Amino acid sequence: KTDWSIEATAARRAQYYAASQSKFVPFKEPMVFKRGSMQYLWDAEDRKYIDLLGMNVCISVGHSHPDVVKAATEQAQTLTHCTTMFYHPTPAHLAEELAATMPKEEEWVVHFTNSGAEAIDLAMTMARTYTGNLDLLALRTSYHGPTAAAQSVTGIAGWRHPGMPGHVAFVPEPNQYRGIFGENAGAAPYLDEIERAIATATTGCVAGMLVESVQGYGGIIEMPKGYMSGAAERVRAAGGLYIADEVQSGFGRTGDHMWGFKADGVVPDIVVMAKGIGNGFPLGAVVARKAVAAPMADKFMFHTYGANPTSCAAGRAVLEVIRRDKVQENAREVGAALLERLHELKDKHAAIGDVRGRGLMLAIEMVKDRKTKEPDEDVTAAVFEKTRDAGLILSKSGPHRSCLRMVPPMCLSLQDVDKVAEGLDAAFRSAAT
Ligand code: PMP
Repeated sequence: KTDWSIEATAARRAQYYAASQSKFVPFKEPMVFKRGSMQYLWDAEDRKYIDLLGMNVCISVGHSHPDVVKAATEQAQTLTHCTTMFYHPTPAHLAEELAATMPKEEEWVVHFTNSGAEAIDLAMTMARTYTGNLDLLALRTSYHGPTAAAQSVTGIAGWRHPGMPGHVAFVPEPNQYRGIFGENAGAAPYLDEIERAIATATTGCVAGMLVESVQGYGGIIEMPKGYMSGAAERVRAAGGLYIADEVQSGFGRTGDHMWGFKADGVVPDIVVMAKGIGNGFPLGAVVARKAVAAPMADKFMFHTYGANPTSCAAGRAVLEVIRRDKVQENAREVGAALLERLHELKDKHAAIGDVRGRGLMLAIEMVKDRKTKEPDEDVTAAVFEKTRDAGLILSKSGPHRSCLRMVPPMCLSLQDVDKVAEGLDAAFRSAAT
């Protein structure tokens, strides 16, 4: 029998979870979630919360979305698992449907994985196999996943552990608030840095560059106009591929496009996706230009649960809900309304240095002083603790843990926006007292 008390769960975690898993708890006081429906969560004491985190961007169309649950349940009851060694129509349909979301000028193929990090690993291997080169470029405040290979392209120090494979050159993130070239410096100086890195920190022969179309753990960092396309141009000139990480920014979350890279008109060689694709069911995918994926046929590459029909049935339902319920349009409209309210909060609270993002991928960044922009981790933590009292779930992010990141299920409503703005305002006020 499952014991739902917080104390019992905390005790079991303390005793039986590895330190690597047990320590990653955002709130000071632990909480147990019992139930979720669309953009809402209820804890074990039946308190309701607005989930602005979407269980870390996984919940794209809503907790326990009835259509997704129905599709997955029907598939699980019929045949829970079938590997790619055998044929099953559901993953094949999903591959076709994902390929159809990609830019039309290329032919696209799909390799399903179990997670985002696995998809990143595979994308790295694919780029190295196709180009015959080893060197990769990545951004300094990037996050690409917990496996050794994904960590090797992850720039945020707090997420990097010892023993990672190398051959990665990091370039400065084109942060338009606090980047090394100052406020609103645009793409150009950062593109020069890519050229410099290729010339000085690689062999000159590059396998590829990984870019989150909007950085998530980096604190919601949008790529300035011309950056993604300019990066692709420079990396291709050195023989490499452009790899878009859409694990957080994909599936319409930015509001304007299904995929974040589309904001800059770039056509990637490889697109990595996970999280929102399954609305909580474990699933990831590498979508690549057909020619780029072809050389991997010489050896076996098999992910046991990749193309799992239960997760893929969920994935098909997610795509259908996004299309049918105009989820991307909702992300645009509700995200714009929320961003406006966040700007109003900035006018009221001096601790807020910056407000940014697009669609339902937003952040506020806390500083000790708006002029020096010194990150304020303590105020962020204090406000964060209070957001829980206000019935909001969000996340501390950014390399200095000075940002509050909002990536809610994309069914968030305008009514919720009022509650979020009021809740954040209350959290700032009570953190200051
Ligand atoms: N890329 C990005 C941008 C991510 O945010 C994450 C997960 N936070 C990953 C890759 C790795 O995905 P997963 O946790 O499914 O391995």
